Amino acid sequence: MPLFNRKRSERRANTPGNPLSTKTLCPYCGVGCGLEVFPPARPGRKVTRDSEGKPIWQAVGNKAHPSSKGQVCIKGASVGESINKSRLEVPMMRETLDPPFRTVSWDEAFTRITQDIQKTIVNRGPNAICMYGSGQFQTEDYYTAQKLIKGCIGTNNFDANSRLCMSSAVAGYIQSFGSDGPPCCYDDLEATDCAFLIGTITAECHPIVFNRLKKHHKKKKDVKMIVVDPRRTETAKHADLHLAIKPGTDIALLNGIAYLLIRWNKHDPMFIDYCTDGFTEYAQVVNDYPPERVAELCGISEQEVRLAAKFWSRAQNVLSLWSMGVNQSTEGTAKVRTIINLHLMTGNIGRAGAGPFSLTGQPNAMGGREAGGLAHILPGYRLVKNPDHRQVVEKAWQLPPGSISPVPGLAAWDMMLALEREEVGVMWIAATNPAVSMPDIKRTQTALLKSPFTICQDAYYPTETAAYAHVVLPAAQWGEASGVMTNSERVVNYCPAFRDPVGQAKPDWAIFAEVGKRLGFEQQFGFADAAEVYDEFVQLTAGRLCDMSGLSHERLAKTGPIQWPAPEKPPPISLINGCIPTTSFRQKTAEPSLRPSISKGSPSHRMNASLW
Ligand code: SF4
Repeated sequence: MPLFNRKRSERRANTPGNPLSTKTLCPYCGVGCGLEVFPPARPGRKVTRDSEGKPIWQAVGNKAHPSSKGQVCIKGASVGESINKSRLEVPMMRETLDPPFRTVSWDEAFTRITQDIQKTIVNRGPNAICMYGSGQFQTEDYYTAQKLIKGCIGTNNFDANSRLCMSSAVAGYIQSFGSDGPPCCYDDLEATDCAFLIGTITAECHPIVFNRLKKHHKKKKDVKMIVVDPRRTETAKHADLHLAIKPGTDIALLNGIAYLLIRWNKHDPMFIDYCTDGFTEYAQVVNDYPPERVAELCGISEQEVRLAAKFWSRAQNVLSLWSMGVNQSTEGTAKVRTIINLHLMTGNIGRAGAGPFSLTGQPNAMGGREAGGLAHILPGYRLVKNPDHRQVVEKAWQLPPGSISPVPGLAAWDMMLALEREEVGVMWIAATNPAVSMPDIKRTQTALLKSPFTICQDAYYPTETAAYAHVVLPAAQWGEASGVMTNSERVVNYCPAFRDPVGQAKPDWAIFAEVGKRLGFEQQFGFADAAEVYDEFVQLTAGRLCDMSGLSHERLAKTGPIQWPAPEKPPPISLINGCIPTTSFRQKTAEPSLRPSISKGSPSHRMNASLW
């Protein structure tokens, strides 16, 4: 049983082409389309300028990119227009929020930041320091921030805006499989015979993914597309079956499909016995979801429930796709687990065209997961709660045992609540704009006002969040800092800098590293460049599910994007081709999460897979 559905070959997206152009990744969304970027001035072409008169870099799709094959949507095609305007070029500071900022040197800004962090650690402890980062970070930025906050400062209060985006998918994968990481890839779109889209408006939010699926659906008459969405979206218009369920009834529908599949004997007993545990308890939960009850709960007809189950039962390979409609929900994790359960009971996983596939929203939310960029995780898909995981990371970071706290840090919203309670001494916000993007915006803004010291690190100024900051730091924008990003299908992309940072802007990782050095961790942050940061990070993935120990900036620049796992040395028994039930990824002891009724929550029993 293959662990991951993989592309047949490593394709070369950065092969020499136009010497003037740079092959990179679109910085907008998790689809991760390859771009070829050209400088504004090219022989025989007139220079295009933006409204400020600044020359615009031009972007086109990179035909050699394995994920997008040259396709690009309007956002990617017009990305050059976004990198000049309203840029923050110098560090600025003020003592309180009332006066205007004054320009300061980097040295003055770093001194103030270092002093405030040291003062806060002494007076209130490390847990009074919070950093709120971003799915727009490159992996090197994420990694350096983890080392600074979790390793050197000693708090796990690092979270990212991807918490509001796909952390339910992370939790669902971990609870069902024992580890994070979508087991699918985009080539599955053309290998499936039933696409099950739930809580995703793929046509608008992941247009390039949807184009591939739409083409396949149109070409192969037997391929079915089911769309579950309360609204008649553009995506739903292309479906063979649109299930316009009442909002919040996804779990009832999923369990109702499972009910029928079990009754029709369309589950996969061999797969269940060999690769999973917990099926008996799961079947008991599902037993409460006969089609007539599900139809009533979901506000659709019984016939529609039966048709959905029929499409599932007749397909050789079912591919589920979901995004924020599932993830951004009060019971998002339970919904993810319930989708995965359907795949496990039918054995629809681990082969071409089949599997549960979460589509990430942000360009490097996946890289963030790999680098430990949420409050409960550490680099290499490790958990802060796991003593062995902490020990490995502490050793790699040359820090004394016990440096990393065993307690998960504050998640994004909890940071706002901690600000409200005046428990935060330093609030560091980087590459995101919570004053406008957090839920309950008025409450968020009031909470931000209570921060005694806020650092806002951004490429742009003014922003809504900068209004709440005491220090603003100019960060290099996409295209001005070399680094790596991973897209939704685990394809790792090198994004080289193709122009100099504006003004005094610095890469995010370099800002974190400088603060680390000034806090006394010279040895830990002596990176000469982003390539060295990446080299150190990938060593921490060796032997892990997201093994990227065989990757480097140099290799990615030479060969183009590569899908992980990409180990330095292939394992003795192939992790890719073998179903290896190892204790490292298996989750035998997980508690079943039975819930009594749908009105009380999520009757989504966790069925654990022993795929690894
Ligand atoms: S689909 Fe996403 S990654 Fe692709 S070009 Fe559009 S915004 Fe960029």
